[in-house]
Amino acid sequence: MFVNDHIARMPAGYLFSEIAKRVKAYEAAHPTQKVIRMGIGDVTKPLAPAVAQAFAEAALGMGQLEGFRGYGPDGGYPFLLNEIIKNDYERYGVNLDLDEVFLSDGAKTDTATIQELYAEDAIIAVTDPVYPVYVDSNAMAGRLGEFVDSKWTKLITLPVTHENGFVPQLPKERVDVLYLCLPNNPTGTVLTRDQLKVIVDWAREKETLIIYDAAYKAFINDDSLPRSIYEVEGAKEVAVECCSFSKTAGFTGVRCAWTVIPKQVKGRLKNGEQVSINTLWKRRCGSKFNGVSFPVQKAAAAIYSPEGQRQTHETLDYYKQNAALVLNALKETDLRPVGGLHAPYVWLKTPKGMSGWDFFDYLLNTAQVVGTPGEGFGQGGNNCFRLTAFSTLDNTKEAMARLLDALKTL
Ligand code: PLP
Repeated sequence: MFVNDHIARMPAGYLFSEIAKRVKAYEAAHPTQKVIRMGIGDVTKPLAPAVAQAFAEAALGMGQLEGFRGYGPDGGYPFLLNEIIKNDYERYGVNLDLDEVFLSDGAKTDTATIQELYAEDAIIAVTDPVYPVYVDSNAMAGRLGEFVDSKWTKLITLPVTHENGFVPQLPKERVDVLYLCLPNNPTGTVLTRDQLKVIVDWAREKETLIIYDAAYKAFINDDSLPRSIYEVEGAKEVAVECCSFSKTAGFTGVRCAWTVIPKQVKGRLKNGEQVSINTLWKRRCGSKFNGVSFPVQKAAAAIYSPEGQRQTHETLDYYKQNAALVLNALKETDLRPVGGLHAPYVWLKTPKGMSGWDFFDYLLNTAQVVGTPGEGFGQGGNNCFRLTAFSTLDNTKEAMARLLDALKTL
């Protein structure tokens, strides 16, 4: 049998394995040194007790006749969809129907598989640096051409840099799909409502579909910033929004997320006829997905209970405190830190124009602090570095003190 050439020719995805390899080698050579990990994008605190309780009760119920559930609705049980619609959208003035929200096991899954709806030759644009899933999933489907000199020949990249204030300049050429991630991974930056409106208006004019990844929206601390793209007028015509309980409520190991596809969002067939993206996704999910497990949906619904909200926000506040601490510690340096205010990530310029990997090695060897080299997020990440807020408060404080010391001897 012939294999998928596009997957076989992908550049190796070596970022986190390479980091793990270098840290392991350092620890083996220096067994008494305490290494502090500030590179991971995974949560570290346990589920809220109210959530764990609901999860356990539903799981035990599956062993009883009354509590047992078989296949559920593909898109999710109404008890959870209604909570999402009420708390995540109606509260911000956005109305949605039940069949415009689709549950899944992850925003990674949805942002990676939504490309099954695009034409084979659809033109893709991403901001740069970028969460690599958007690029890889389209590369695997053969849409991005060849990988030459660390670039895909057919991918349109919109730089988001310290120089342009992390606001992408919109392309002149035709684009079928633009991926946006806000608050952003890796830069931790956000766009204002007005800045987002410019992109939505452009997408309406050009008939471009926006895939809006809002996996970090729970970190937004300012009510004037949009938590959903649908808070921007006209977005319901052009945007699909992917959200997740992973970072909001510690579900990285539990797995539950959702995607919103308003019925107004349309694409075109090659003959010019308009079709509803919602209808296509429903059709696709009906053939490929049997829903999220019942106990997981019960656990997710418990996030919205008063206890669940209180406990979940306590954990979020803890991470937010860490993020603020990282940002403040670096403010006086020449590393030009951004993010951290509305995201669990702080993004830096490396000192003295070092590559991200050189700065990684320097910090590991001098301060025993681990971050993520910007190069792992595309060319736009060159000479940049990401620190995350998911460590403990004490370790975050210690890591920042060590990092500041290490900068003195550079
Ligand atoms: N989207 C972004 C931008 C992410 O950074 C991540 C995880 O790090 C995800 C999606 C994955 O979310 P999930 O755990 O729901 O698959």
